[in-house]
Amino acid sequence: MTRRLTVLAGPSGVGKGTVVKALLARRPDVWLSVSATTRKPREGELDGVHYLFWTPEEFDAAVARGQMLEWAEFAGNRYGTPREPVEERLAAGVPVLLEIEVQGARQVRVSSPDALLVFLAPPSWEELARRLAGRGTEDLEVVERRLAAARAELAAESEFDVTVVNDEVELACAALLDSMSLDPPSKGP
Ligand code: 5GP
Repeated sequence: MTRRLTVLAGPSGVGKGTVVKALLARRPDVWLSVSATTRKPREGELDGVHYLFWTPEEFDAAVARGQMLEWAEFAGNRYGTPREPVEERLAAGVPVLLEIEVQGARQVRVSSPDALLVFLAPPSWEELARRLAGRGTEDLEVVERRLAAARAELAAESEFDVTVVNDEVELACAALLDSMSLDPPSKGP
């Protein structure tokens, strides 16, 4: 069965972004949702491309208006998926991918029971801690908070339909694509 909505979750630092990039390179017909966040942009991140960078007030207003498909507080900031663009793509038959954390994945499970929930797991806890600390984009306090969140996220693995271990990006990407059972890419006109 082709499932149109796929959620990729897993602890911060596990390499979700890298796997998603590899997937989109192979399957440009998949649409990756652009999340909104209240965190500040990292070096090189563009508003509307990597995230919609919203103020806390803008975020709260969107939540109050029911405009978020899911949202969660993560390491001191809010993150969420704007509902409308996702629903538009799904209605047009476009496969949609959400790259989100575990609390958001749980909300999608409830609101869209047909969605495929994929957990991206690190080869080991030690490897995850090493990747998180080595990223170098955050100060120590933020790394500590993300490690604590990662512990909680690893415990949620059994709630997912599929686990993909991110040992090697191309293999993880292939396993993710396989679990999505997409139709063959269309050849164009
Ligand atoms: P980062 O700050 O590293 O970009 O993201 C932190 C965490 O928030 C990651 O686990 C990422 O997958 C998650 N995240 C990004 N966008 C969303 C979203 O729209 N909803 C939820 N629930 N989590 C998100």
